[in-house]
Amino acid sequence: MLPRTSGCEDCLAQHLRWHNLRMCLTCGHVGCCDASFGRHAVKHYEATGHPLMRSFEPGEYWAWCYVDAIEIDPMPPRPPVEPDPELRARPAPQA
Ligand SMILES: [Zn+2]
Ligand SMILES: [Zn+2]
Repeated sequence: MLPRTSGCEDCLAQHLRWHNLRMCLTCGHVGCCDASFGRHAVKHYEATGHPLMRSFEPGEYWAWCYVDAIEIDPMPPRPPVEPDPELRARPAPQA
């Protein structure tokens, strides 16, 4: 999912300032956080029912589900790591 804008879409339209940014994981809408004047991220959820958003702040890797009110992992699940065949073949170290 790619962000639709580089700042809060609704603040940009209304010439408002925002605090932190959140991105909708359903449609890529960028909205501002609850500490911002517009609170456009939660308003976007209320207007559309899109329940998942993630932080759009650099270096922040968390996401939020409005329905369950829990933090979720924004990264897709990683494929299971195949054990190294060489490591597997090596005998267990003697005690
Ligand atoms: Zn906003
Ligand atoms: Zn959305």
